[in-house]
Amino acid sequence: MLLDNHNRHINYLRLAVTDRCNLRCNYCMPSEGINFVKNDKLLSIDELITLSSILVEQGIDKIRITGGEPFVRKDLMVLLRHLKSLKGLKDISVTTNATLIGPYIDELKTLGIRDINVSLDAIDRATFERITRRDQYDVVHENLIRLISEGFNVRINFIVLEGQNEQDILSILELMKHYPVSVRFLEEMPFNGGSKSFQTIKWDYKAILKHITDAFPNYVKLESPKTSTSINYQIENHKSTFGLIPSFSRTFCGTCNRLRLTATGDVITCLYGKPKANLRDIIRTKKSSKGVKEAILKAIASRAKTGFDAQKEHATVFDNSMTSIGG
Ligand code: SAM
Ligand code: SF4
Repeated sequence: MLLDNHNRHINYLRLAVTDRCNLRCNYCMPSEGINFVKNDKLLSIDELITLSSILVEQGIDKIRITGGEPFVRKDLMVLLRHLKSLKGLKDISVTTNATLIGPYIDELKTLGIRDINVSLDAIDRATFERITRRDQYDVVHENLIRLISEGFNVRINFIVLEGQNEQDILSILELMKHYPVSVRFLEEMPFNGGSKSFQTIKWDYKAILKHITDAFPNYVKLESPKTSTSINYQIENHKSTFGLIPSFSRTFCGTCNRLRLTATGDVITCLYGKPKANLRDIIRTKKSSKGVKEAILKAIASRAKTGFDAQKEHATVFDNSMTSIGG
């Protein structure tokens, strides 16, 4: 079992399988993209398999595949098939922009990988294209509806962006009220590849809740697991639920159970902090699991208590993009 220096049980790995992406969401990276790393710096599928197996041996029982866009990686299913075979791994999920998932839906279903988070920050086509800087609206909607109708457990991640998509908050709830999905509204974080250094945000979770409940006053708060990052609600007569994720306000650090591994093998113990070790270099040089295990134990033994403490590791601007950290 992995315990950090604040006695938090770490059982959840967010595994970024690539830093590449076919969209250019403006809150995530600049229009020209970021300096994507060279192919040989990315973990190979064999290395991803090795590292995830070691982490599961150490006590990780939940893995979320993220990126970049996971499905730009043509060999992704090889990793997922392997993860499915790992004893001790109870929960496998994927976060995707839903542009490229179509051809893989049948196999995901067969494998029993049913928890899919779809990032969708607009239901209006023009707003979607402005935010993502790409013309992929139709395929995203088609895949989203297909995932829902084929019985996947779908959660929509919607980042509320000042001046960009506020008008879609209520519309997405209206549209989704007919479907058994969860729409989670996230606060924007300053990881867009370099230009953001905001100290406050207009759309924090309290402002989002007020905006929603002014329009839908009949709602209930739902029970959520202790380690959940979202505070969840349901509006009367809606099949869907909605959640608020205080990713900028960071109210959930006290129960954080997460570890992140980037596509280049960096170990990140808090989204707001700096990498604490590089596992790619260790497996490429030492070729043994012992060094990897030691590096993980060392990293989680010096975890910042909160995202605010971790933030002090940076100067004012976060030069990182979420596409390299994995969200
Ligand atoms: N490409 C996939 C996707 O978009 O779902 C997976 C990777 S993406 C980096 C993971 C999550 O990070 C997405 O839900 C995305 O919305 C979120 N994200 C990216 N940049 C963010 C930012 N600046 N603030 C908050 N969330 C962000
Ligand atoms: Fe790509 Fe996801 Fe970043 Fe959008 S949020 S640019 S889909 S990695």
